[in-house]
Amino acid sequence: QAKELGRGQFYLFDPEIQKRVEQRISLEHDLKRAIAQNEFSLLYQPQFNAQQQIYGAEVLIRWISEQNGFVSPAEFIPLAEETGLIHAIGDWVIESALLQMTVLNQYASFKRLSINVSAWQFADHNFVKKLLAQTDKFNIDVSKITLELTETGLLQNVEEAKAKLSELRAVGFKIALDDFGTGYSSLSYLRELPLDELKIDKAFVDEVDGIKPAPLVESMVSIAKHLKLWVVAEGVETKAQYLALENMGCDHYQGYYFSKPITADKLIEQLVQEQQA
Ligand code: C2E
Ligand code: MG
Ligand code: MG
Ligand code: MG
Repeated sequence: QAKELGRGQFYLFDPEIQKRVEQRISLEHDLKRAIAQNEFSLLYQPQFNAQQQIYGAEVLIRWISEQNGFVSPAEFIPLAEETGLIHAIGDWVIESALLQMTVLNQYASFKRLSINVSAWQFADHNFVKKLLAQTDKFNIDVSKITLELTETGLLQNVEEAKAKLSELRAVGFKIALDDFGTGYSSLSYLRELPLDELKIDKAFVDEVDGIKPAPLVESMVSIAKHLKLWVVAEGVETKAQYLALENMGCDHYQGYYFSKPITADKLIEQLVQEQQA
């Protein structure tokens, strides 16, 4: 009977979809209040070098909402992007992460804080200016900050992106291409973009088991090497994966095999422990 209503109208009468639309609207409401109500926090996923020591960490936002409990960033970041809330959230992440960096910077082995930047945030004409104002305010050594951008973030307006990246790199920031391989970027663009690091997405790392060959990941590492970029493997969950990736020539590693995302206090504890070892 639904068909008789004609195309499009079918969905309005599907109670499942109706329910999801309502949930989404209420989630958007909650998201709007989340900053004011202090519901966001940051976790840090340690990043490891070839000596299996922590050299840096990636900042990951967490949202414990009063109404919905834990909501994954994979769910609310896209919603924040669609609603424009990503600007306020992104500003909050940068400010909070830089403040934390003033503490982490006291540990000599901690050399890099990696911050995710949404395409929408990056597209803001004031992005560079605002970021520099923040790093100045906290007196941050920007050569210790990596900005993680995705292919979608960089390829919407390639010329503008190139100009912004060059400006950021000129003052010392590092730039990582996040989720490498999941987007649509062509290799020619990859060569043109001023980058420092490629992060191989977990979806590809999942293919590596140390037993069967993983030609796709091998090719990615080889491309990165040709472009003189560091390679970070993300989502490394087993020792066999780590050993195989090391063999392929990866430089840095992140994943549950090494550490889950942890609080800043816990990260500092780990840095102190490594220092004493
Ligand atoms: P991402 O930047 O690719 O971050 C890596 C994600 O993989 C994180 O999920 C991390 O917790 C997870 N992960 C890392 N190692 C492992 C592993 O060994 N096994 C498994 N199963 N998962 C692992 P998370 O924190 O849920 O974040 C999801 C995505 O949300 C991030 O993907 C990123 O795109 C976005 N995101 C997170 N925080 C921020 C933020 O502050 N700003 C923006 N714009 N996006 C963020
Ligand atoms: Mg990331
Ligand atoms: Mg990633
Ligand atoms: Mg990813």
